[in-house]
Amino acid sequence: MKEDKYCPACGKKLSLLYMKEKCPGCGVDLLRYDAEGRLARDAEQAAKEVEALWRFLRKADKARVIEKYCRKKGRPLPWEDPREEQT
Ligand SMILES: [Zn+2]
Repeated sequence: MKEDKYCPACGKKLSLLYMKEKCPGCGVDLLRYDAEGRLARDAEQAAKEVEALWRFLRKADKARVIEKYCRKKGRPLPWEDPREEQT
């Protein structure tokens, strides 16, 4: 199945064989425009994932689970343990 190609800026339908960098309709740099759009989407997605993970950790109080896991495995904690600094 063929997918139509459109200019991401002005929406002009482009030939699938159109390989030039500039949109014939608005002159936008197609390669760069797409790359920037993808970067922005990636950053947005990453931020959402971090936030989701953080909410999950807070809700489940997984910090203690991770601490326990690290102690059991003799691994360093991914962060300083404030309790150890006090002793
Ligand atoms: Zn265009």
